[in-house]
Amino acid sequence: VGDRADYDSETESVCPFCGVGCKVSLKVKDGKVKYVEGINGPANEGRLCVKGRFGFDYIHHPHRLTKPLIRREDAPAKGLNVDPGDLSTHFREATWEEALDLAGKRLVELREQDTKSVAGFGSAKCTNEEAYLFQKFIRQGFKHNNVDHCTRLCHASSVSALIENVGSGAVTATFNEIENADVAIVIGANPIENHPVAATYFKQFTKRGGKLIVMDPRGVGMRRFATEMLQFRPGADVSLLNAIMNVIVEEELYDSQYIHRWTENWDAEKAHLKDFSPEKMTDICGIEPDQIRRVARMFAKANAGLIFWGMGVSQHIHGTDNSRCLISLALMTGNVGKPGAGLHPLRGQNNVQGASDAGLIPMFLPDYQTVTSDDVRKSFTDVWGGGDFSDEKGLTVTEIVDQVYAGNIKGMYIQGENPAMSDPDVDHARDAFAKLDLLIVQDIFLTETANFADIILPASALYEKNGTVSNTNRQVQRVRPAVAPPGDAREDWKITVDLAKRIGLPWDYKDASEIFAEMKLNMKSLDNITWERLRTETVTYPSLHETDPGQPIVFGDGFPRPEGRARFTPASVIAPDEAPDAEYPMVMTTGRQLEHWHTGSMTRRSLVLDTVEPEANCSLNPRTLKLMGVEPGDTIRLTTRRGSIEIMARADRAIAEDMVFVPFAYVEAAANILTNPAIDPYGKIPEFKYAAVRVEKIEAD
Ligand code: SF4
Repeated sequence: VGDRADYDSETESVCPFCGVGCKVSLKVKDGKVKYVEGINGPANEGRLCVKGRFGFDYIHHPHRLTKPLIRREDAPAKGLNVDPGDLSTHFREATWEEALDLAGKRLVELREQDTKSVAGFGSAKCTNEEAYLFQKFIRQGFKHNNVDHCTRLCHASSVSALIENVGSGAVTATFNEIENADVAIVIGANPIENHPVAATYFKQFTKRGGKLIVMDPRGVGMRRFATEMLQFRPGADVSLLNAIMNVIVEEELYDSQYIHRWTENWDAEKAHLKDFSPEKMTDICGIEPDQIRRVARMFAKANAGLIFWGMGVSQHIHGTDNSRCLISLALMTGNVGKPGAGLHPLRGQNNVQGASDAGLIPMFLPDYQTVTSDDVRKSFTDVWGGGDFSDEKGLTVTEIVDQVYAGNIKGMYIQGENPAMSDPDVDHARDAFAKLDLLIVQDIFLTETANFADIILPASALYEKNGTVSNTNRQVQRVRPAVAPPGDAREDWKITVDLAKRIGLPWDYKDASEIFAEMKLNMKSLDNITWERLRTETVTYPSLHETDPGQPIVFGDGFPRPEGRARFTPASVIAPDEAPDAEYPMVMTTGRQLEHWHTGSMTRRSLVLDTVEPEANCSLNPRTLKLMGVEPGDTIRLTTRRGSIEIMARADRAIAEDMVFVPFAYVEAAANILTNPAIDPYGKIPEFKYAAVRVEKIEAD
């Protein structure tokens, strides 16, 4: 794909896929991106993975939406029934004026019935400026906080625990800090596939003698580099982590000085941990006491230790408790706020950190300022030109879908998200979207969600946009348009502004830099970060002065909490929401693959990536397949209490014999038809990582 030497122009931007935020140079010929090269950004130092290097051509795919579309009056009933190659059966083309006028008119009609009858999902794939405008659109336009995005499905529970216990939802150290660490834990994450460039730093760390502890119910690829691999039972995170901390307490390996100076609630945590000896926990977590002791000593005795985690930790009904344990482990060993130490939830989408920072969440305004505070809301409405909005925390993604299903929310504006693929128990979500009186979808492709739309607004891919994004490291970087959007498609922020005007909001922005300037008025995290600086620099927030490139490590001198102290919050063992039984005897877990990104809307339209990985598949242990009489490559049936899919089976020795792993990128065998919508009570994140499942051979006719 692409010719390195032959191009007309080159533009610097940021990879549109994962939260690593690799900087790229886009080589353009004849108005098309022909080649992508990694350049020297602080997160990637010239490296790219297969997605960043080869996965760019989706932006030129013939399925790109190029005209506004309005559902035809004679269209078939709403369902997952539109051919993306021929939209004319369901939609007719419209001018921007007509589509925006109609969208605005119908939004106003719904608002007049009840302001709460409209909700919005913004996107972690859009820029910071676009995320900021989207939450402002709902809050200023509809006076409530029912606005959310995919962070609810990935790290909401991590953020909830981090805000509770260290006072901030972002990482305390960049992943590159691993070069200063002696030991690192990677738990519930599969960075070789999901954060591949970050994984290269982890591998280098082990080559220079760093001790890597990998903990995961799946034998993820990083195990090949691990000093210790703990393949614990699915859903048993708290029992394992509490057992590790029990050893640290019993053997007095904790850092008394740090605990005394910088934390609170230690006595309660210490007393709580007494009940979690490795001998007691081994039957729950499946890890031998000896190994638990070795790992506890290895982490506690190191000079500096980092903890990385992913959705294997967060996507549980006890996801917040899992993160609380990791935070406690770091605090008791003094591993926050110094080189080579810290807490790092590996963020999934390229701008999920930035979209969350920008307030695209129902309980917080930008910079995690609570909507319940009158002073905070006033500080925003002063900037926005008046009008108050509700002090009630808004509904989250799955709560909004439930209210749509119940008929209480009648209109939705969805920008760049695909909940008809990504929600748990997705048939329920699809049924809900089919009931909406008004669904406005703003996207680059006819996603599964857009199948249910009344009005479709054609938007821009990241390589067609101007703005900023913030990666998992808190690094703010500029993205720039290398090519123009196809046809009549427009940048997302422009569409939101045009729609805002039609619902009566007095918005006027000349360009993305003006939106960024407005964000800075109420976001201290952006202090000393200017549009000018971002022309040539990446800045890690917080930046202490105008020439400070930013702070890779935070909280060395206290936490943004009362008295500057972090908190220990003890966690107890909670079983997964549903248990395997005679009818559903195995455990299903879901996730991503190296080649396919989230719901597949981009990567399945990328020639190289879809050629390498063209077919829906799931992985089981070869012994399990043998017992079933199934050969790798055969199609099998997976059934949970929500539904059933048929999917190709692969053999993977790293999967436990009672488990099946299902990637969620494939619409033809959508993993989320099967997943459990039960949610964590704090982060409100669904339990994507655990469902009781029946696995069956499909007998030939
Ligand atoms: Fe893109 Fe992530 Fe790969 Fe970097 S590691 S090239 S950001 S997908």
